[in-house]
Amino acid sequence: MVLKDVVVVMKLLLVEDESKLVDALSHILKKNGFVIDAALDGQTGFEMACTGIYDIIILDRMLPQKDGLAVLREFRNQGHDTPILFLTAKSTPEDRAEGLNAGADDYLIKPFFSVELLARLQALARRKNKDLTENVLVADDLVFNPLRAQVTKNSKVIQLTLKESQLFELLMRNYGLVVTKERIIQKVWGFNSEAEFTTVNLYIHYLRKKLKLSNLKTVRGIGYYLQKIRNAPS
Ligand code: CA
Repeated sequence: MVLKDVVVVMKLLLVEDESKLVDALSHILKKNGFVIDAALDGQTGFEMACTGIYDIIILDRMLPQKDGLAVLREFRNQGHDTPILFLTAKSTPEDRAEGLNAGADDYLIKPFFSVELLARLQALARRKNKDLTENVLVADDLVFNPLRAQVTKNSKVIQLTLKESQLFELLMRNYGLVVTKERIIQKVWGFNSEAEFTTVNLYIHYLRKKLKLSNLKTVRGIGYYLQKIRNAPS
């Protein structure tokens, strides 16, 4: 499977309080194709990290407002699995173990060379990239990335909301097959939800509009399906 249409840009969060280091690293990382946001203290970094939009986080240990270790522990306790490269000025084996035990994927001891940082980041990015592309669903002219809730169609990337994405995933996994409205409600909204058929209809409408899906078909009174396109461009 060739995923030529899937554009995976790594979005990186840099949590570091030395502004000179932030500037220098941002410059190097941007040159190497990363999209960078920076936070200058632990609390801000933690809040930004929790948005879940980052592919990789570089986290300094010694930070104002919230210590890097505390950020790391709390972030992992909340169930986030974003890869984290931990920066530490402490180099005893105990200190290094502490970072890894708290949930860091890798660490780097300050001061470091930027080539080493890049090598470590690229290793983390490869791992993350593999996760991102292995879960991609492809059918006709649609490429769907459930982890990003993004659809690529005619080289255009379209962002879906969470519910739209869950509904679309269900239809993609049953490509060419009818999915009943009952099943959609159970899978997307849950057994005990207040969602009704009109809710499903509304989200189908959103998908049709957003993705310009002429092949998203209605089976009256039953459900919906994505019709296979004949002679779709490969
Ligand atoms: Ca620091």
